[in-house]
Amino acid sequence: MKNLGIFIGGSRCNLNCPYCAGETHRIKEIVDGEIINEESLRSILTEYGQYLESVTLTSAGEPLLYPKSIIKTLSLLKDYKVSCKIKLYTNGKTLICPDKDLVDQFCIMHSLGLDELCVSITPEMFHEDLLKKFPNSITAHVFEHRYNLVLHKDFIENAQMLNAVMEQVKENKVESFSKVVAWFPRNEEDEYDEFSSTKLTLFDIKNLKDKYPFLEIYGLEDRYESGDKMTLFPDGSLLSSWCS
Ligand code: SF4
Repeated sequence: MKNLGIFIGGSRCNLNCPYCAGETHRIKEIVDGEIINEESLRSILTEYGQYLESVTLTSAGEPLLYPKSIIKTLSLLKDYKVSCKIKLYTNGKTLICPDKDLVDQFCIMHSLGLDELCVSITPEMFHEDLLKKFPNSITAHVFEHRYNLVLHKDFIENAQMLNAVMEQVKENKVESFSKVVAWFPRNEEDEYDEFSSTKLTLFDIKNLKDKYPFLEIYGLEDRYESGDKMTLFPDGSLLSSWCS
């Protein structure tokens, strides 16, 4: 295993996206400051910690509603001498107008090794043109950030819509921005989900990638089965079926 995904936080989210893949994993609520499956995480870190090339802090809800859990997890990674790249997934909502506590907590996260924010482009973010609010006092504290985009038909209806989202990203591109990673939804068997995916032809994809070199599109082929990337889920299972 080279890349480890860790679920952070509990069952709460401050958005309600029509395509949420996290809902099915909201099996328990936690107190901010707790780590889900701490014992399992410790044994994984004992075995693989020093070999990891990246760690992704992900969630079934919004991880930044549990900032103390993020800090505690980062401290644990430090205790196990994990020195690789550490990324945090977020829908970005709390970053638009961060309160002072969150800014302070972000400074601590950065000092504990958080390298990158992976900010989801949600329907709300796009329709309310919120990308222009980045960077802010918080993103200035991380080395870089990238955007994540789910190519779900209930949001990205077609190639024109994807083009419109990319134009908004281009307009608001900032120094710390690295790329947009877009992927098609996956079904319960962890395969490309034709039913809920945006219909894009290979021609559309090639045109979009030529036009926006910062756009990467994944998910038509199976890329999660190599075992290089594993995620520790809230129910304690360690599986390759989650995005990176
Ligand atoms: S932000 Fe993420 S977890 Fe929250 S509702 Fe949207 S997809 Fe689900």
